[in-house]
Amino acid sequence: MVIDVSDLNSIKLDKKNGTVVVGTGNRVGRIANTLARQGFIAPFGDSPTVGIGGITLGGGIGPLQRSIGLISDNLLEVEMVDAKGKVIRANKNCNSDLFWASRGGGGGNFGVYTKYKFKVHRAPAKATVFRITWPWNQLEKVLKVWQKWAPSVNFKLGSELTIGPKKGGNVSMEGLFLGYKTEALRLLKPITSVGTPTTSIIRLLAYIVGSYINVPDQGIKNSGQVYYGANYVRLRRVKAKYDPKKCVQ
Ligand SMILES: Cc1cc2nc3c(=O)[nH]c(=O)nc-3n(C[C@H](O)[C@H](O)[C@H](O)COP(=O)(O)OP(=O)(O)OC[C@H]3O[C@@H](n4cnc5c(N)ncnc54)[C@H](O)[C@@H]3O)c2cc1C
Repeated sequence: MVIDVSDLNSIKLDKKNGTVVVGTGNRVGRIANTLARQGFIAPFGDSPTVGIGGITLGGGIGPLQRSIGLISDNLLEVEMVDAKGKVIRANKNCNSDLFWASRGGGGGNFGVYTKYKFKVHRAPAKATVFRITWPWNQLEKVLKVWQKWAPSVNFKLGSELTIGPKKGGNVSMEGLFLGYKTEALRLLKPITSVGTPTTSIIRLLAYIVGSYINVPDQGIKNSGQVYYGANYVRLRRVKAKYDPKKCVQ
């Protein structure tokens, strides 16, 4: 049985209290854009088409997580319908165990969520977006520096590193800085001075335009499968041993 929640698409911003209540049928892009137009930020991931329903329940990583937290960190209350059709409200004071489990426990476990209430934050007028790419063979150098730099640079700067396939792919880093370009250039220097970047786009945009790491004229070509992780990894050269008879390698 599929329960379609896409008609639950209300977005009610309470500017005075800094909160927004959204129907779980919204997609993150619609929420981020509606709030940005009114001068507010809510965290989002890297793709506007992802549903707020599932991304919130899974935690919700994104380029703003270093400045305002994960999507689930900003969740204040949920409304859910359980298997008996009972409408349940959960927040830190009421049904707090369900509320806790709704902030990262994953989707589809406890009932059908109908509304989420989030805390929102004032958006800056401008933000700087960037995308830097390197040839694939510079991966090791870039990854080493990025892993040290990314978690310690100014918390208003969030970046994602994407490693393409060895054949025909490259290494690219994109992200968002909640501030002006001159400061962004200075903060990015330790990573932009690694290797020989083939593309370097760093642009100051009105926040409403930049809120989706939206580097104009540079559509991301997305083909094939991708694996995303919120990890920093230890670099080690290993020789893969593959035994086709084993189910788990
Ligand atoms: C292109 C792409 C980019 C992504 N980028 C990011 C990212 O930047 N950051 C990040 O954290 N994640 C990201 N994700 C992962 C994404 O958060 C998960 O796939 C998430 O589960 C999607 O939720 P959905 O509501 O769109 O999907 P669905 O497939 O509809 O739902 C996923 C799960 O959540 C459950 N669920 C959804 N809505 C409800 C509801 N109202 N009540 C109860 N259960 C519900 C479903 O039953 C299902 O088990 C990305 C995924 C894709 C495909």
